[in-house]
Amino acid sequence: MELKDKKILVVGLARTGASVARFLAGRGARVTVTDKREREAVASFIESLQGRDITFELGRHGDETFLRADMIVVSPGVPMDIPQLRLAASQGIPVISEIELAYRFIEAPIAAITGTNGKTTTTTLTGEIFKGCGFTTFVGGNIGKPLIDQVTSGERVDRVVAEISSFQLEGIERFRPRVAVLLNITEDHLDRYASFQEYRDAKARVFANQTSDDFAVLNVDDPLVAGYAKKIAARVVPMSRHCALEQGIFYRDGIITFTWEGRVERFPTSAFKLRGVHNLDNCMAALATALLMGCESSPALAAVESFPGLPHRMELVATVNGVAYYNDSKGTNVGSVVKSLESFPGPITLIAG
Ligand code: ADP
Repeated sequence: MELKDKKILVVGLARTGASVARFLAGRGARVTVTDKREREAVASFIESLQGRDITFELGRHGDETFLRADMIVVSPGVPMDIPQLRLAASQGIPVISEIELAYRFIEAPIAAITGTNGKTTTTTLTGEIFKGCGFTTFVGGNIGKPLIDQVTSGERVDRVVAEISSFQLEGIERFRPRVAVLLNITEDHLDRYASFQEYRDAKARVFANQTSDDFAVLNVDDPLVAGYAKKIAARVVPMSRHCALEQGIFYRDGIITFTWEGRVERFPTSAFKLRGVHNLDNCMAALATALLMGCESSPALAAVESFPGLPHRMELVATVNGVAYYNDSKGTNVGSVVKSLESFPGPITLIAG
């Protein structure tokens, strides 16, 4: 993709928008950044771009700004259906998301992790496994650094692990991960989507450009996820906590078994630090991804065993008078809270609100 002297509009000036603008300006594009918020609200991002030849349109989105662009890159926080984007698209102007832009330049194979819940945990864990197996790895996307930062840095890495949101997937054209993981789908973000179906359709776009050279890790315990198995071109690697599988990855009686084209690997879970049934899903997804992308089983197991989990996700805070207190404040939708409650055999007091 040639960027030099191209007129490119970046919509949304927060962390991702600033990273995109920095990358594009560095490649000689003529960059404009527009944000509906006023200058004071985005001052820190403007400052981070100082010294670069970038035009800002703040406090408004002008139709003419959009129509003048050769290409538009949309930040994840900006809905794809705002009138100015529709107008530009109707005039044939390419409108893409940051992951699409980054994809065009990333050289390493990509693992893309999506789903309603568990993305951050699984993405982080997958990155830890790759690193434990000796691969230099960039972990980013919806967490930490935007993917485009990997390209801007100019560093060579062996693997990229990307947490991908449905918002980013709305703006892809060619984005094609080597392994795409769909952890689960339950209702979420219905403030932004017209319907649950629309949200599901956005998630499924992660498979859209995959071919039979690629893999899709599907949690077949989730009927909505399992439903995609017949609709996608990638090789489907099923994952289950409930059924033993001939091919794929499954959990039974304290052992995770990965079996794929004659390779069989077993991972006892007794030394895992992660708690909760949903974290078994996350561990299986991360292990399957890592093994499909070149990892050996012993360092992979060691990486999972040493992973303590992330703050605010089923995090043991303290045990007082025999009562264990968990912080699960990242459980912001029904699906995640249901899984957390399923994870304890004993009586539970839930504090929610
Ligand atoms: P995300 O990045 O998708 O929001 P996180 O890993 O940050 O996911 O976890 C968010 C919440 O979802 C936490 O409450 C966590 O306990 C719960 N959770 C984590 N993994 C899963 C899963 N596989 N299924 C359901 N809930 C999960």
